[in-house]
Amino acid sequence: MRDRVRAARNQGKRIGFVPTMGALHEGHISLVRLSRASCGFTIVSIFVNPLQFGAGEDFERYPRREAEDSAALERGGVDLLYVPDPKAFYPPDFSTAVEVARVSEHGEGGIRRGHFRGVATVVAKLFHQVQPDSAFFGLKDLQQVAVIRRMVRDLDFPITIETGETIREPDGLALSSRNAYLSPDERQVAAGFPAALFEARDRVAAGERDPGQLEGDTRLDLESAGLAVDYVEVVDPQTMARPRRIERGCRLTAAVRVGKTRLLDNIALLEE
Ligand code: AMP
Repeated sequence: MRDRVRAARNQGKRIGFVPTMGALHEGHISLVRLSRASCGFTIVSIFVNPLQFGAGEDFERYPRREAEDSAALERGGVDLLYVPDPKAFYPPDFSTAVEVARVSEHGEGGIRRGHFRGVATVVAKLFHQVQPDSAFFGLKDLQQVAVIRRMVRDLDFPITIETGETIREPDGLALSSRNAYLSPDERQVAAGFPAALFEARDRVAAGERDPGQLEGDTRLDLESAGLAVDYVEVVDPQTMARPRRIERGCRLTAAVRVGKTRLLDNIALLEE
C-alpha cells in the first residue's frame, strides 16, 4: 500500500483517504466522489474496528459485505482498497490509545464510553499507515468529525480534514450501514427521526433560540413518533459544547433507538 501511495505521490498526485467500516452505501460513495474531485489518488479502507465497539454492542453482527463493497468502489473509481488484517493491526500486546478529552465527552461519548478513544486510535493508526494529504468524513457523525479535527490539530498530523453532507433516503432517513437491521415496521417508525429534526430546523427558522426549549420539543416529537431517545442536544460543532443561545453554525444532534437499532443524526439549525 505504501509503495502504491509513494508512486502516486511521486507522480505529483494528491492522496485522498476515506476510512469506512464497509457495508458501503451512497453516503460512503459521496465521500469517494469528494476525494476524487481534489485528489488524483483515492484510497478507501474497510475495517470494522473492535476498539470502538463496547461490550454488548453489535461488533459481531455488524454487516460485512466485502465482495459487493469492492465492486462498488471499483465502479466509483477508487484507486486502492485497503483492508487491514485485524491480527496484524492489533497485536495481542497492543498497548497505546489516543484520548481526545472534552470533545469526546458529550453526546455519543457520554453513552458509548470509550467509543471515541477507539475511533481516535484507529484513525491515528490509519493516518500513519496511509499518509494521505486529505481525509474525508461524513457530517452524519458530527462528533467524530470534531474529535478527529481536534486530534489532527493537537498531534500535528499534516492532513486536511474535509467533510461531506449527510446523504438521505427520499423520506429523509440518513443512510447508515445499521439501517439494514430495521424490520419494515421499524423502518417506517425510523422516518420520524429526520422528520423531528426538520421540524426543529423549522422552529429555529420561526425564531426559536433557546436550546433547552428546542431540545425538549424535539424530544417530545421523537417520543410521540415511537422512538426511544438517548439524547437530543444543541451543539457547537467545533467543541460539541452546548451554546447558551442558538446561533449560526449550531447543530441539533440526537441518537434514538427503534427496537434494538440505534440511529444517529444531526442537522444544521442556522446555516453559516
Ligand atoms: P462508517 O462506515 O459508518 O464508519 O462511515 C464511514 C464514513 O462515512 C464516515 O465518515 C461517516 O460519517 C460517513 N457516512 C456514513 N453515513 C453517511 C451518510 N448518510 N452520508 C454521508 N456520509 C456518511
